[in-house]
Amino acid sequence: MCTSLYCKSDALPDVPYDLSCSACARVVWYTAGLFHFLAMDDRTLFHKIRDHEIPATIVFEDDEVMAFKDIHPKATTHLLFIAKKDQDFVPSIADLTEATAHVPLLLIRKAQRFAKEQGIDGYKLTFHVGKGGGQEVFYLHLHFLSEQKTGV
Ligand code: 5GP
Repeated sequence: MCTSLYCKSDALPDVPYDLSCSACARVVWYTAGLFHFLAMDDRTLFHKIRDHEIPATIVFEDDEVMAFKDIHPKATTHLLFIAKKDQDFVPSIADLTEATAHVPLLLIRKAQRFAKEQGIDGYKLTFHVGKGGGQEVFYLHLHFLSEQKTGV
């Protein structure tokens, strides 16, 4: 028996929806569409921070790079630098290609300039590589750690 509210069909007793019924077919179609839409969203957490869909404390941003505070800081200042452009997206150092080989240097240069502007002269820069290297978010990012404070 079809269980759709508007459907009285009992053509297919063993399935919950009868596709010969237009009300049932619509439910199945919309449900399939929703699953397809959700499956297409394979963006990482940092895509959503980059696109301002998830809040973060952004301390630096230009056309190429964004830096924001790590939610679980491991130092007085713990920032994450990411490249913003879609063509610069790479999940991890392990995935670098000729086309994205410039990205780590881009992040390091921006971190270096940021530190200089903030008067920070001692810091650590780290890439976690792969699950075995402690990487949790597969959107290449540079950790910037310092025991000195920023002004932002
Ligand atoms: P990974 O281990 O992948 O190199 O670093 C990911 C970092 O992202 C971790 O240090 C973690 O604390 C940080 N993180 C995880 N979730 C969030 C979040 O929602 N917002 C911010 N700002 N950082 C996050």
